[in-house]
Amino acid sequence: MSSVPVAVVTGSNKGIGLAIVRALCKQFPGDVYLTSRDAERGQAAVAQLQQEGLQPLFHQLDIDDLQSIRALRDFLKEKYGGINVLVNNAGIAFKVNDTTPFAVQAEVTLKTNFFGTRNVCTELLPLMKPYGRVVNVSSMVSGLALGRCSQELQQKFRSDTITEDELVQLMTKFVEDTKKNVHEKEGWPNTSYGVSKIGVTVLSRIQARLLNEQRKGDHILLNACCPGWVRTDMAGPKATKSPEEGAETPVYLALLPSSADAPHGQFVSDKTVQPW
Ligand code: NAP
Repeated sequence: MSSVPVAVVTGSNKGIGLAIVRALCKQFPGDVYLTSRDAERGQAAVAQLQQEGLQPLFHQLDIDDLQSIRALRDFLKEKYGGINVLVNNAGIAFKVNDTTPFAVQAEVTLKTNFFGTRNVCTELLPLMKPYGRVVNVSSMVSGLALGRCSQELQQKFRSDTITEDELVQLMTKFVEDTKKNVHEKEGWPNTSYGVSKIGVTVLSRIQARLLNEQRKGDHILLNACCPGWVRTDMAGPKATKSPEEGAETPVYLALLPSSADAPHGQFVSDKTVQPW
């Protein structure tokens, strides 16, 4: 088993994820895994970074596929005995003018952004080593969407005692409510992406709390963040930040020094803790 520290970035064949891998290859003292659901796209991204003189490693990972997540889990457990840095970056967004029915957009978006990310956490968080760092890439949109939820939902999503099961029930209810076209009546905002990212931010708050309760002595820090508005295939060419600038906050959280005991369980943007 290798004693080399290991960092893993989900959805890193392009966009912000690729920029996070690039930065970690330069700054993280260990092996950095670029992962992609499509092996060919992943290998092409690895080759691109190799041309820049960097040495990322590759592993397939489709966060929609539990088998794929478990294969990565078993590989990391066997080769490294755990994980030092996990960046949950993979995500999707329908374009604003996409004509796919809203209920389908809701199901598909929540499937990857919330349920996929949660499955990765369920399988990989138990492998986090002491002083490990976990970064869940959410979005400022989560805060905006929260503000557009009913008071009742806002209270639940801001609760310091909400459980993961309760969060899963709420995210499932959103998808069901869109199918019955009652989501607005039930207090949801009209944004699947926004609700999926509420899920990611609240999940991060819950997971940080559980780490405090169950593994306090391991000094693991887990946070959600917003990369900013970044020029990628998702956000388009008009966005204000380059992928490298978008990677700055996730990389800052991934490389918090072992002496740090904060931030933890926070939503961070521009390296600054934001109110939730
Ligand atoms: P992007 O360029 O579209 O890249 C998204 C990445 O996620 C791609 O590598 C994509 O792989 C991967 N992915 C999607 N579904 C996946 C799955 N099921 N399993 C594994 N990988 C999957 O988007 P981006 O702008 O870099 O976004 C990265 C993260 O930042 C996302 O979570 C996004 O919500 C968040 N974010 C972005 C912005 C922004 O302004 N760009 C703002 C706030 C938050 P494929 O190439 O195979 O599709």
